[in-house]
Amino acid sequence: MNQLTEQIYQRVCRLDPDQKEFQQAVYTFLLSMDRIVDELPEVTYHKVIERMVEPERAIIFRVPWMDDEGRLQINRGFRVQQSSALGPYKGGLRFHPSVNLSIMKFLAFEQVFKNSLTGLPMGGGKGGSDFDPKGKSDAEVMRFCQSFMNELFRHIGPDTDVPAGDIGVGGREVGFLFGQYKKITNSFTGVLTGKGQSFGGSLIRPEATGYGLVYFCNEILAGEGRKLEGSTCLVSGSGNVAQFTVEKLNAFGAKVVTLSDSSGMIYDEEGITPEKLAYVKQLKNVKRGRISEYAEKYKGVTYVPRTGNGANPIWDIKADYAFPCATQNEINAEDAANLVKNGIKLVGEGANMPCAAEAERLFLDKGVLLAPSKAANAGGVAVSGLEMSQNSMRLKWTSQEVDQRLQNIMKGIYESAKSAADRYSEHNNFVDGANIAGFLKVADAMIAQGYV
Ligand code: NDP
Repeated sequence: MNQLTEQIYQRVCRLDPDQKEFQQAVYTFLLSMDRIVDELPEVTYHKVIERMVEPERAIIFRVPWMDDEGRLQINRGFRVQQSSALGPYKGGLRFHPSVNLSIMKFLAFEQVFKNSLTGLPMGGGKGGSDFDPKGKSDAEVMRFCQSFMNELFRHIGPDTDVPAGDIGVGGREVGFLFGQYKKITNSFTGVLTGKGQSFGGSLIRPEATGYGLVYFCNEILAGEGRKLEGSTCLVSGSGNVAQFTVEKLNAFGAKVVTLSDSSGMIYDEEGITPEKLAYVKQLKNVKRGRISEYAEKYKGVTYVPRTGNGANPIWDIKADYAFPCATQNEINAEDAANLVKNGIKLVGEGANMPCAAEAERLFLDKGVLLAPSKAANAGGVAVSGLEMSQNSMRLKWTSQEVDQRLQNIMKGIYESAKSAADRYSEHNNFVDGANIAGFLKVADAMIAQGYV
């Protein structure tokens, strides 16, 4: 690291020594900044990077709710409003027991550059709670969402901050949150995205992150004379992003052989066909069951339970391309070494920051094409941006229109990341390319807007 970026990193670590995920996100971003700071004296002069690593605002609040037995439960709620340089804060809500300020800050930080890459007018933010929707009744989830919104509503608005879903927050939760916002404020506005089709949701929003990931990776592969058709792919997770990644990979003629959840993984050598995927959607979205049930239903499928730390067996299966779509740091150094050993050609990050810093380094050093989450999973927020536009105009585009716009946006992101990599870094270093292309636009807006 050069002197400036090293100082910034040391300050972040000193101020928040326990925020490991946030430090990791800042660290990998600063490595890319090393490529450009000497060429851009105005960035140093206006302390743009120093300002960027500090959220504009971080809100922490109490969320009391009553469970079905009539017992009071207390969770912690968060909203990190990282940057409004390009537009209203925009980013999802995550409900998962692991949620803490470090995870919220890393996600909000990444979101700023991701949103910038889409070319749409959106700032960056993220929020959520350590509430675990798993095993809760619909009524409990509703009471939690209502209580969460009882505080969140005063910090958000269609021109201020527009949350959406993330891990543990899907259509059901967004519906409950929207209903409560509407009731408290007596207004029907596009304050959340990922809404149901009957009350302002955009077509293709549920599909957008997974579809966008595959469109983006297809561009990278095409640039290298490779293709998805006929390839074997690994996908982790089995939630929203994983499901629609599998759907689009199937449409491109690839074969997906794995899925997982927090309890374990399945390996289906025959491939997860559209019929089997329909079963997974029912299992995960309606029945809210475990992926192990897939192995009970289909013959010849192996189920491997999760054993904690160490190497994850999902990343030790031979395949052409890998798509981590579960959570942060799900590919550690050992997993990366296994993927490289087995000749993986591309890693497409559907989840946010799924590769540990050492894993990312290994992929870059070994010439594995790495599609970083900031760019590769931006399709979700891009269609959220399109949902905001449709809400403002009070109209609804067709699936084909939204899908076409999504494809154009993903192609645009690929081109910006590629040209920034070629200009400032190495050919095909999409990590640097995405960081730099996303950064430049935000930096320009921050300088123009003065010290706010
Ligand atoms: P879902 O809640 O729909 O699915 C998450 C999946 O990941 C589930 O299969 C879950 O298993 C698994 N998972 C979650 N946490 C862990 C963990 N600690 N260890 C192992 N497995 C885990 O979330 P999404 O599909 O929406 O999100 C997945 C990733 O994609 C996240 O990183 C998210 O930030 C990112 N993302 C999502 C976007 C979206 O539009 N939804 C947009 C951009 C990025 P289980 O069922 O057991 O909990």
